[in-house]
Amino acid sequence: MSYLVTSAKAEDFISDEEIRETIDYAAAHANDRSLVESILQKARQCKGLTHREAAVLLECDLPDLVEEMFGLAKDIKQRFYGNRIVMFAPLYLSNYCVNGCVYCPYHARNKSIRRKKLTQDEIRQEVIALQDMGHKRLALETGEDPKNNPIEYVLESIKTIYGIKHKNGAIRRVNVNIAATTVENYRRLKEAGIGTYILFQETYNKANYEMLHPSGPKSDYAYHTEAMDRAMQGGIDDVGIGVLFGLETYRYDFVGLLMHAEHLEAVYGVGPHTISVPRLCMADDIDTADFKNCVPDEVFYKIVAVIRMAVPYTGMIVSTRESKRSRERVLELGVSQLSGGSRTSVGGYVREETEDENSAQFDVTDRRTLDEVVAWLLELGYIPSFCTACYREGRTGDRFMSLVKKGQIANCCLPNALLTLKEYLSDYASTETRRLGEAMIGRMLGEIPGEKVRENARRYLEEIANGKRDFRF
Ligand code: SAM
Repeated sequence: MSYLVTSAKAEDFISDEEIRETIDYAAAHANDRSLVESILQKARQCKGLTHREAAVLLECDLPDLVEEMFGLAKDIKQRFYGNRIVMFAPLYLSNYCVNGCVYCPYHARNKSIRRKKLTQDEIRQEVIALQDMGHKRLALETGEDPKNNPIEYVLESIKTIYGIKHKNGAIRRVNVNIAATTVENYRRLKEAGIGTYILFQETYNKANYEMLHPSGPKSDYAYHTEAMDRAMQGGIDDVGIGVLFGLETYRYDFVGLLMHAEHLEAVYGVGPHTISVPRLCMADDIDTADFKNCVPDEVFYKIVAVIRMAVPYTGMIVSTRESKRSRERVLELGVSQLSGGSRTSVGGYVREETEDENSAQFDVTDRRTLDEVVAWLLELGYIPSFCTACYREGRTGDRFMSLVKKGQIANCCLPNALLTLKEYLSDYASTETRRLGEAMIGRMLGEIPGEKVRENARRYLEEIANGKRDFRF
């Protein structure tokens, strides 16, 4: 079947033939110095790369050019995102699931995991615990189960979450990671005020996808792969894609991921808002040793760097599946969003669960508290940002992308990052984190480009110190 980037059909815009030809092309040209240099030259202009060009970079192992790639990814990241890192936390609502995904402990046949679904009151308690840590942005997670976790439950939970005002806390952006659904349900999620709709493809290889998803609604490859198209049709213009690295060869899924981004850009004029790069983890009933495609660190870092060059405006997310060391490396290479203090068990923020009552989705590697992560970021020279302004100001989809492409987003993002960091420092930080954060604000305030914005930011910072909250540009 031929490759059709604008087709509505999964097997056309994620063409197996095109992926395989791209992998062969990349292998044949991997160390073609002049080709690689010309691709790097294109990447330097921050105009993005095609999936073929990106595949060649990923395959290249000429040491000086690989070094250049890492340096370039770092420059591109600095240019579009500066040193800001957006913080979030996942909130697991329910682990009931009717699917048979062989890599996920939620799979329906798993009898050892404890099934749990939060009531609205339990959600309230979880959210208060998250607010007391300092979080402002959540990613909702559920298994797929039309009886236990119907769309009405998710919508009610979103309403509950936005409605909780505890001390100075507030969740200002709820992103949602739930199973592929209908246009009508996406419309309802949009109306409920969600930020990004996130759905991982897991793998783009159809044959492998069908083996990894032997039963349940998720086993329908086309329905899953076309979910972002339905989300866009339902009015959600910020969508987040990703693959679960380790299920399929990284080469295949890397190309598929970029083809998916190209498809969304070609059809809707706006690519994915974020790309997540999860790697398979150990979990209840899941042993990573059973999966032969697990991705080694060095390859993983290169994947992140080349994605940064290929889609310079797209946010990149790394979760606590990664270790502190690995997170430090990928932050340099292109990651712009990080979770902190995460619990992957249902109800885990109120009560950390013991081993025999396991309900967690996977084993978290980075177990530090949010305050420890914030202090660590500040020490590394990053600004932890709790900003949620863009979508609240209607800067979503192509409106957001055009601002980023013009390099304009820096004029709002930097002051917003400093204001929300100030809120965090005032309300939640330890003494040491507060010291580091105040020094960062002092240093970065002068970097705000516009004089008027800088003056307003200074005034808002004073007002935050005096107890006011929620300023934004
Ligand atoms: N149930 C929803 C769906 O079907 O897409 C999404 C929610 S699920 C809680 C979030 C993601 O966790 C999945 O899309 C999958 O990529 C990832 N995941 C599942 N098992 C994992 C494992 N063992 N290690 C790391 N990530 C895993």
